[in-house]
Amino acid sequence: MTTHEQIPVTEGLFAETPAGPRLLGSRCATCSTPYFPRSAACHNPVCDESRMEDADFGPRGRLWSCAIQNYPPPLPARYEEPYTPYAVGVVDLDEGLRVVARMSVDDPDSLQLDAEVELTIEPIYQDDEGRDVTTWKFKPLESGGS
Ligand SMILES: [Zn+2]
Repeated sequence: MTTHEQIPVTEGLFAETPAGPRLLGSRCATCSTPYFPRSAACHNPVCDESRMEDADFGPRGRLWSCAIQNYPPPLPARYEEPYTPYAVGVVDLDEGLRVVARMSVDDPDSLQLDAEVELTIEPIYQDDEGRDVTTWKFKPLESGGS
């Protein structure tokens, strides 16, 4: 086993922190509205003053909706060859944000709506220099066996 160097697919969207994986967003200090990705200004129409602060979100949420990506996504999306269908979920984070992400499951059909999910950072493909390019995904929490 060799450990490849890992690089994020996009800078500034997610990070491995001492507390675990987190999404990097922002929050308005005036009205507490959360944003992901980071927003330079508050878009809450009833907010008087936009005062943005960096905020980390995750790791827990619930699966609100999902779909199976049965065909390769259009460029510039990347994936491991040969293409394997994967699930894309819409997750309601505990912090009140709704985010779209790939789901980390072997069988996309096994996903259940309203399931508790947890943020994870995983490789999605290897670049030309052999580095693992990572992105954020959500993985269903073990329900304690069935
Ligand atoms: Zn605001």
